[in-house]
Amino acid sequence: DEARPTILIPGRINAHVRQRVQSEFNCISIETADASLVQPHDRRRVRGIAAMTEISAPFIDAFDRLEIIGNFGVGYDAVDAAHAARRGVMVTYTPDVLSDEVADTTIGLVLNTLRRLPQAEAWLRSGRWLKEGAFPLTPLTLRGRTAGIFGLGRIGLAIARRLEGFGIPVHYHNRTQRADVAYPYHATLRDLAEAVDLLICVVPGGESTEKAVGAEVFAALGENGVFINVGRGTTVDEPALIKALEDETIAAAGLDVFADEPRVPRALMALDNACLLPHVASASVPTRNAMGDLLVDNLVSWFSGGAALTPVSETRSLNRNS
Ligand code: NDP
Repeated sequence: DEARPTILIPGRINAHVRQRVQSEFNCISIETADASLVQPHDRRRVRGIAAMTEISAPFIDAFDRLEIIGNFGVGYDAVDAAHAARRGVMVTYTPDVLSDEVADTTIGLVLNTLRRLPQAEAWLRSGRWLKEGAFPLTPLTLRGRTAGIFGLGRIGLAIARRLEGFGIPVHYHNRTQRADVAYPYHATLRDLAEAVDLLICVVPGGESTEKAVGAEVFAALGENGVFINVGRGTTVDEPALIKALEDETIAAAGLDVFADEPRVPRALMALDNACLLPHVASASVPTRNAMGDLLVDNLVSWFSGGAALTPVSETRSLNRNS
């Protein structure tokens, strides 16, 4: 029906998002973000995109009447938001509604990495407890550690608050010191790594953080050091991380994100001192539904009242009538 705006969904998306888009808008779905998969006639009808995939500048340019891109997730490094802003296209994301879930998962990943709980469960399930006795004591513990948060934003702060509950002192590094927290601030990531033995990375991806965590940071973290990444895989020099784990420059790593997902380097999978998760930090049904609702609410609000609820910083000053 012509009165309803047409929303394009390229690639996979949460089922709740698809359902709501289909009930509130005209919906076109294509397998991947490739504009040639959309009929020229349909291309001119597309006014919104709902996506959790890469949205490039050429893809944005393929739709003359495009007004808004709703990104499923708080990390929107896969969307060319700078280009969208130049074109006057609004970009929205889903901050806050996932922060507690991601922080909870991060604590789980920290404990699994240090106390080897997945390996301990495998020990029980494979009958080794019965045959061989107790699971070996873990050399590593959370007790006595100092945590460093690289990226003390919404999620980083939720992680810091949890760590306080565990009795763990927290330090951090951002580009800018926060005025609203008392945690010790370090002006460089290297200084932070030097000061702590549990480094948690939760900065956004993109150019400004690309390969920020490399050999120098691992050397500073040290042989008792543990590295956790729940931000983006691109922030880490992955070969340098593998080397640091292999030669025990650091003690262990817990990773939810990787440089080239879903491909995880064989060398990483072979390592006993790495705990690996398939990008699941926000991946519960309730939290993903809340993210989906916020995405669709942004589209509904845009097309009814003309304002996006949660615009990304690059497009914050755009409104529908500008
Ligand atoms: P925020 O924007 O609230 O926080 C980001 C923090 O990182 C800010 O404190 C910012 O401070 C700091 N930062 C940004 N760039 C740099 C830089 N170049 N150097 C140093 N510090 C930097 O974002 P959220 O906490 O909501 O989310 C953070 C990221 O977590 C997302 O962008 C996403 O990539 C990732 N994420 C991963 C998930 C998963 O499933 N594993 C789930 C959800 C999010 P300042 O600007 O002062 O530098």
